[in-house]
Amino acid sequence: MKKDYYEILGVPRSASQEEIKKAYKKLVKKWHPDLNPNNREEAEKKFKEIQEAYEVLSDPEKRAMYDKFGYVGDMPPTGGGYSTGGRIPSLDEILKEFFGEGLGGFFGRSFFGSDVFDVFFGEKTSSRERRSEKRGEDLEVTVTINMDEAIRGTRKEISYTRYEVCDHCGGTGAEPGYGYKTCPKCGGKGYVRNESRTPFGFFVTESVCDMCGGSGKVIEKVCHVCGGSGRIRKKKKITVNIPAGVSDGTRIRITGMGNAGVDGGDYGDLYVVVRVKEDPRFRRQGSDIIYETSIDYTQAILGTTIDVPLPDGGYTKLNIPPGTAPGTVFRLRGMGLPDSRGRRGDLIVKVDVEIPRSVSRKERKLLEEIKKMKGLN
Ligand SMILES: [Zn+2]
Ligand SMILES: [Zn+2]
Repeated sequence: MKKDYYEILGVPRSASQEEIKKAYKKLVKKWHPDLNPNNREEAEKKFKEIQEAYEVLSDPEKRAMYDKFGYVGDMPPTGGGYSTGGRIPSLDEILKEFFGEGLGGFFGRSFFGSDVFDVFFGEKTSSRERRSEKRGEDLEVTVTINMDEAIRGTRKEISYTRYEVCDHCGGTGAEPGYGYKTCPKCGGKGYVRNESRTPFGFFVTESVCDMCGGSGKVIEKVCHVCGGSGRIRKKKKITVNIPAGVSDGTRIRITGMGNAGVDGGDYGDLYVVVRVKEDPRFRRQGSDIIYETSIDYTQAILGTTIDVPLPDGGYTKLNIPPGTAPGTVFRLRGMGLPDSRGRRGDLIVKVDVEIPRSVSRKERKLLEEIKKMKGLN
């Protein structure tokens, strides 16, 4: 009977290379003989099939042949192919096949329960992020600017505190002149054994030593300036260019101005959050701004010209036509604040009309005359 490689890996015939790899990883975790010490014989039999199926389906040429003829003869591995010649590869070999030479010194010892093992079998995609070198944290500072600065752009000096690489030890955390010694926790192996008894049996796992991070060495004498962390807090002052047309809440990223990394990791970034200050003369409505003013009833009837303040400074003349009703709105297009795309909103002028509570004797006389002229009582 012919073997169905797709069925063995549990993938559809249309599976992508990525899906095949994923399925194989899962099966390694479940059936590799080294992970089934109590059930070794069955696991070996099962894993041989899995390995054979994977070697064929992960090689595009072999897979094509298998799809066409239902079997693959003794074909030498092509370009990216992987063949163990029917042997069961060790877990280390499998990891090497997936990671290439990228792990360097990690090879040569078992990965049981180790970091690398987790990266390979877990959902993590990178082995790099689990190594001791860590990128510094991003930082955030807020800067408040006026409306006119938001419209025209400005430069602001910002002071903040961040971690920088310790200049006494150069970030190594070790006192200059001193070296490294064998890690006392793991005895230089870089990993520690954990034995545990559970209802399912007796388990032995190995994990990366948390004291030395897997290197097997620890600092002989810690740096007296940074205490071994390799970083120290420092005040920093920078001038930030705020471009014209920023809106309230804009985040400007300044690469490499965040915290120093750990063990040679890169600096994080600094985010400058721009807040645009309120102006008591205006009300803000998104990128539109509302300016409210009032005119005398005679101006409303006869028309006038008023001065309207602008958010970017100065004033503009606004013509109020005769017969303007109370609450009339004038829209000055493009004279508001910039939006997130840098387009400016409108300046909305709301004009109210004042009706006087009391009038002078003379004004009253004139008004009475108008009233009479209109035939009103
Ligand atoms: Zn250690
Ligand atoms: Zn130091």
